[in-house]
Amino acid sequence: MHVISGFDRIGEENAFAVLARATHLASQGMDVINLGIGQPDFPTPEHISEAAIKAIRDGHHGYTPATGILPLREAVVRRTLATTGVEVSPENVCVMPGGKVTMFAAILMFGAPGREIMYPDPGFPIYRSMIEFTGATPIPIPVREENGFAFSGEEALSLVNDKTSLIILNSPANPTGGVTPRAEIETLVHGLEGFPDAAVMSDEIYDSMTYDGEEHVSLLTFESIRDRLIILNGWSKTWAMTGWRMGWSIWPDALIDNVRKLAVNAWSCVNAPSQFAGIAAIDGPQDAVFSMMSAFDERRQMVVQRMNTLPGITCATPKGAFYAFPNISQTGWKAKELASALLEKEGVATIGGPDFGILGEGFLRLSYANSAENIERAIDRMERFLIEEK
Ligand code: PLP
Repeated sequence: MHVISGFDRIGEENAFAVLARATHLASQGMDVINLGIGQPDFPTPEHISEAAIKAIRDGHHGYTPATGILPLREAVVRRTLATTGVEVSPENVCVMPGGKVTMFAAILMFGAPGREIMYPDPGFPIYRSMIEFTGATPIPIPVREENGFAFSGEEALSLVNDKTSLIILNSPANPTGGVTPRAEIETLVHGLEGFPDAAVMSDEIYDSMTYDGEEHVSLLTFESIRDRLIILNGWSKTWAMTGWRMGWSIWPDALIDNVRKLAVNAWSCVNAPSQFAGIAAIDGPQDAVFSMMSAFDERRQMVVQRMNTLPGITCATPKGAFYAFPNISQTGWKAKELASALLEKEGVATIGGPDFGILGEGFLRLSYANSAENIERAIDRMERFLIEEK
C-alpha cells in the first residue's frame, strides 16, 4: 500500500495522549489530577441539552443543509453582531463539526508546496501539523513571554512575503492565555494592504474568555481585510460543549462555496439535534457562562499566586482562555521531562510547552479547567516534587 506522502508529516495533539495516559494511570488506582486537557470542567447548561432532546423528540433526525440550518446561522449572525458590531450574512456562515474543522478546511484551501503559512508559536499544535500535511512551509509567528504572550504586529508583518498564502492568528490564545492588543493587530492588518493575496484565519474560539476588562479584538472589525478573512469560532469552550462537536466559521464570498462543497464531500452536515442546541446556547440565558467565567477567574488568580511561590518557577498572569503558561526554565528541568515526571510520579497531568512549538521550551501549560480544590492539591504536589527532586 502507498499512502500519500502528507501522512508522513501529519502530527497530533499531545493533550489527547496525556489524557489517555492519565486515564490509564487512574484506572490503575492512581489519584490523577488533570490540568492537561483544554475543556471546561462544567456541564453544558441544562437548557442547551434540553433543546437537543426536544429536537430529537420533534423528529429532527435527518440531514440538514451542509452549512447548517438557517435559524442556527442566523443565531451566529446575531451573536457576531453583538460581540463585534459587524453584521455578516448567514450565507457566509458555515457550521462545522467543531472549531477544529475550520482550520482543517482553511489550511487545506491555502496550503501547497511552495506556499508559506504563518501560525503562532507557541500555538495550537494542529495549525503546524495541518500546514505540514499540505506540504506548505510553516512559518512561526513568535509569541513571547516578555510581550505578555501577544504577538508583535511588526514582527509578524516582517515575515509576510509574496509566498504567504495564509496567516493564522489566535487571541485569546491557547496555550499561553495571551491576548493581543488592538495596536499590534492594527499594525499587521495595515501592512497586509501591501499583500492582497495573503488570506487571514482568525481563531477566536476563546473570544468570550478574557479577564480584568481585557478587550478581545475580532479581526472582523478590520474592514480592509474582510474579503480574505476566515473567522473560526464555536460552542466548545464558551458553552462547555466540547463533546457536541459544534463550531462555526465565517467565510468571505470568494471562499464560502469551497467550504460548502467540502462539507458535502466530507461530513454532509453537523448532527441535527446539536444544531438546535447551538441556537439555544446563543439565544438562551447566559448566566451559566458568566458563573463559569467567574470560577475560571478565581482559579486563574490562585494558580498565578501559587505557581509564583514554587522554586524556579515564574508565572505570568494570563489575560484570557483558561490556561496558565508558567516559565519553568530555572527549575533545571526540560519542560516535557518535567510534565512526564509530574504525571508518572505525582499524578498531575500538564502539557510540556514544546508540544505547542519551538518557543514552548521552558514552559508548561496548565489548564485551570478543574476544581479549585484539585488545582490546590496539584500545585501542592508540584511543590513537593520540585523541592524533593532538586
Ligand atoms: N482553536 C483553539 C485555539 C483551541 O484551543 C481549540 C481546542 O482546544 C480549538 C480551536 C478546537 O475546538 P473544537 O473542540 O471546537 O474543535
